[in-house]
Amino acid sequence: MNLMSKEVELPGAFILGAGAVSSKTVGINGELMPLVLTEAEGRPAVNGSYFSSINPVDGKCLQEKYSDRFHDCDFGLLANLYACEGKPGKVIEVRACRRTGEDSLVSCMRKTMEEHYGEKSMALGGTFVLQKGKAKIHIMPREFSTCPLNTNNDVDNWLRHFEVSAPLIFQTVMVSRDPGLDLRVEHTHGFSHHGEGGHYYTDTTPNTVEYLGYFLPAELLYRIDRPTETHNVGRD
Ligand SMILES: [Zn+2]
Repeated sequence: MNLMSKEVELPGAFILGAGAVSSKTVGINGELMPLVLTEAEGRPAVNGSYFSSINPVDGKCLQEKYSDRFHDCDFGLLANLYACEGKPGKVIEVRACRRTGEDSLVSCMRKTMEEHYGEKSMALGGTFVLQKGKAKIHIMPREFSTCPLNTNNDVDNWLRHFEVSAPLIFQTVMVSRDPGLDLRVEHTHGFSHHGEGGHYYTDTTPNTVEYLGYFLPAELLYRIDRPTETHNVGRD
């Protein structure tokens, strides 16, 4: 993430988002909730990230504070990151309760932006709290799959799914429409202070769910290390 901050010409950036842990560092696969003040001249990085993996003891969610175990700021596989200067300023506040459709909070916001901005792409990053209710998440298994995952079904069967409870703190990066960069248009990971965290799909309690979030539009969008061969498997 220190390198990312330089790549996006914002050295010392504050970064949040959703990604995977570096299996080279952690030794296994896991969901990463990046929360990093990247290094700047005269100041080391501060890594406040969390990560979730499958607990080998009981097969349940094991959430840990990244800096309790590791001292780098790496990630693996992929990440959707929102980088900012980390300064106070005006933000967009979103409060929502009750879900009346199938879409998650993030999908609702993204699709609303897509309807409004049409061909133009609008990207948004930020954080929201699931204040009441429960959410559906996944966590990747500790080991990489031994056989190729060729369909969404294959990926779904490989992932471990859980229902987790409020209060949960989510970090999201969304783009209203892919401007032809082969993007994952929304990606949201969350952590909690009661040991649950992972990749967010949606809430599972539409009648009682409550959200409070703070977001900021992006000025620039960067695609780093775009794969030469692509597919649409596992993008939700
Ligand atoms: Zn994810």
